Amino acid sequence: MKESYAAPYDDHGDTEPREECGVFGVWAPGEDVSKLSYYGLYALQHRGQEAAGIAVGNGEQIVVFKDLGLVSQVFDEQSLESLNGHIGLGHCRYSTAGGASWDNAQPMFRISPNGTDIALGHNGNLVNYQDLVREAADKGLVNPTTHPSDSDVMCALLADAVDGETTVEDAAAELFPRVNGAFCVLFTDGDSLYAVRDPHGVRPLSLGQMPGGGWVVSSETSGLDIVGAEFVRDVEPGEMLIINQDGVRSRTIAQATPKGCVFEYVYLARPDSVIQGQSVNGTRVQIGRALAQESSAEGDLVIPVPESGTPAAVGYAQASGIPFGQGLVKNAYVGRTFIQPSQTIRQLGIRLKLNPLREVIQGKRLVVVDDSIVRGNTQRALIKMLRDAGAAEVHVRIASPPVKWPCFYGIDFASPDELIANTVDQKNPVEAICEEIGADSLAFVSEEAMIAASGQPESQLCKACFDGHYPLGLPGGNPHSEAVRRLQGSACDTADELDHFVTDVEQH
Ligand code: SF4
Repeated sequence: MKESYAAPYDDHGDTEPREECGVFGVWAPGEDVSKLSYYGLYALQHRGQEAAGIAVGNGEQIVVFKDLGLVSQVFDEQSLESLNGHIGLGHCRYSTAGGASWDNAQPMFRISPNGTDIALGHNGNLVNYQDLVREAADKGLVNPTTHPSDSDVMCALLADAVDGETTVEDAAAELFPRVNGAFCVLFTDGDSLYAVRDPHGVRPLSLGQMPGGGWVVSSETSGLDIVGAEFVRDVEPGEMLIINQDGVRSRTIAQATPKGCVFEYVYLARPDSVIQGQSVNGTRVQIGRALAQESSAEGDLVIPVPESGTPAAVGYAQASGIPFGQGLVKNAYVGRTFIQPSQTIRQLGIRLKLNPLREVIQGKRLVVVDDSIVRGNTQRALIKMLRDAGAAEVHVRIASPPVKWPCFYGIDFASPDELIANTVDQKNPVEAICEEIGADSLAFVSEEAMIAASGQPESQLCKACFDGHYPLGLPGGNPHSEAVRRLQGSACDTADELDHFVTDVEQH
């Protein structure tokens, strides 16, 4: 297996927000759990594309197979056939701080002092990582100089606490209330499958049942659908499920204080998933309708930036009465390649990812609907491409408010000083961004309309990347959190001030 690996090629010079992980677990005696896990991970591939792994337990031992790459690259028929048991635990990962090394691929695996195998997969990011890594280092479980991932630290602490007197369940009930941050954790001792969701329920996690009686837990309901499991319910914030031959048992590990990630609805989750009873596609269509009502445009055709902008574009077309059309074709797989392009190919930029349909675009006043703007490079290149293809006007409508703040809870954005909402003149930022990207007009949906479309009470959502209010606090030892702390206590009016601010904090 490879020890190091290149990140997937970013084919258009921008950094899109990226979900850091997907988790999938199945308890189903008599079923081919490794293949169920494989298909479950396929449905969650958008949540992590740099590493994939499956742990299978048969009641006596756990076998883990993982590697860097897409699910389809890591597994083949032979490797799946070697994974036999009644519990499968799958994980797909996009790496950030932990780096794209084999060591950080999941599920993590540890053996407890009494010889119990523990495999663990995690979606999210911890806020008190430093405290936990110190605790694990003091116990001699990890070497902090190697920067173990937060998932490895949790697995190490969990396994270490399991002995003749403390069960896996009790060890987890002691550990997880002390973990602060965003986490959906699946783990197994090879006999039972456990699922824990943090008290804020930042990331989604759902429980489903197989037709034959087995149980499935998945980051998104699309992972249940693909294996034919029927949705039962969401795992509650602050809840631990214990799944074994006795069925599904629930144990509260902390009082729920829900703060679901609003960006899951806007961009991250699959449109065919349902989060907290709310259809992701329905939310996006509604945001598009609200966008049309808030920011009309004189246009001949509404086109989406495929594919994440499509539902909002449908909603925009419905509410505005402007016809909907496909003006761009997405080359769906090029962004997933691990082969670095030649210089000739690299110069194609956005053309690698999107190709305009000239006969649709020619001479039209376009209303282009996208899900979000991060650094603005994509939109700048896209607008130029549309004009080159004959568009008469390009009006851009964005189905989320401007992204201004970094996420510390499991999403990787560009650093704060790279976000276009921060780099432009703050006196009239929307106009300044419009000019930067070369559009004829630009508008963002309001925060109120986005929240209303999610169907969730505002008090139960995290929207820190839009408003800078971090409901779980900021992690220690992270240069971006220092920048945020100082920004929240200061007034940086210009891009230069912000730039100096972040650079200064990162250097000291
Ligand atoms: S900061 Fe943004 S992306 Fe991160 S959890 Fe909150 S809403 Fe989601």
